Amino acid sequence: MSPVANSAVRDRLRIAIQKSGRLSEPARALLASSGLSWRESRDKLFCYGESLPVDLLLVRDDDIPGLIAEGVCDLGIVGRNVLRELINEREESGKPAAFREWRALGFGGCRLSIAVPDVWDWQSPTQLAGKRIATTYPNQLRAWLRTQGVQADIVMLNGSVEIAPRLGQADAICDLVSSGATLAANQLKPVLDILQSEAVLAGPAHPFADARADLADLLLRRMDGVLRIRDSKLLMFQAPREAMNELLQLLPDAEPPTVCAVDGADTLALQALCHGAMTWQRLEDLKRAGARGLMVLPVERMLA
Ligand code: ATP
Ligand code: ZN
Repeated sequence: MSPVANSAVRDRLRIAIQKSGRLSEPARALLASSGLSWRESRDKLFCYGESLPVDLLLVRDDDIPGLIAEGVCDLGIVGRNVLRELINEREESGKPAAFREWRALGFGGCRLSIAVPDVWDWQSPTQLAGKRIATTYPNQLRAWLRTQGVQADIVMLNGSVEIAPRLGQADAICDLVSSGATLAANQLKPVLDILQSEAVLAGPAHPFADARADLADLLLRRMDGVLRIRDSKLLMFQAPREAMNELLQLLPDAEPPTVCAVDGADTLALQALCHGAMTWQRLEDLKRAGARGLMVLPVERMLA
């Protein structure tokens, strides 16, 4: 680890990501697409940034918000579920907010859901009154129960939450769900979501007051560029001038296009960044409406 752990003024930015798990690879890929590269140390807990003064810290995801709060790292990539839990915990104990969500990153999607035994005839959250609900997210569950005006017992578990009802430890659970297959295997069904989660960039609640501010701005701009074009394609075609209005109506997901005249003024060439899927069906519709020479190109980088 770097010799300067908590010094107040720093000129390098330190980002924590999950060492190994669901978020590790996509987090690394996003940072690499944003132009970061590292020299990896042998223990691989700290990676020294080479292309920019931005270092990586590889840790357990649950530790990331605390590391930001302590100033050990500056930013982190973590599930909203983890960040929210710790924000709620601080709120419950009257501590000031030390970190917040800076950006949603579009990967690691899942839901924090209430699940009940298959055999329950689910009508509404009031059915949870007086029941025991197992979870590893007690603060979010408590806050949600409060908004519902429901009193229930929260059974805090550190793992294997979905098996708690079968073991008689709880009546229902509140846990992360993506496909729902684990729930089904345990004779449970999700009945409502209390949080839509995805990986987020977490940072301090207050802006940096030293060189890290410019570095963080630079990184955010680059990340925004990567995120913005993640599913985007550059569409190019030519069409007769009179067909252009109808063609533009077929492109509601396009940024304002560049259009220029070719072949005198009767034929126009268009290029537009499109954010929706560019399927064969869409290309065929465009062709029918008069587009010719349709081309769909991948977009590697964008600086707005
Ligand atoms: P660590 O050892 O770092 O504590 P972990 O076991 O807590 O790892 P993972 O299972 O890798 O973590 O999950 C990391 C994050 O991935 C979760 O906090 C959540 O935001 C996200 N995620 C996406 N889909 C799922 C899912 N089906 N189950 C659990 N987490 C998911
Ligand atoms: Zn974890």
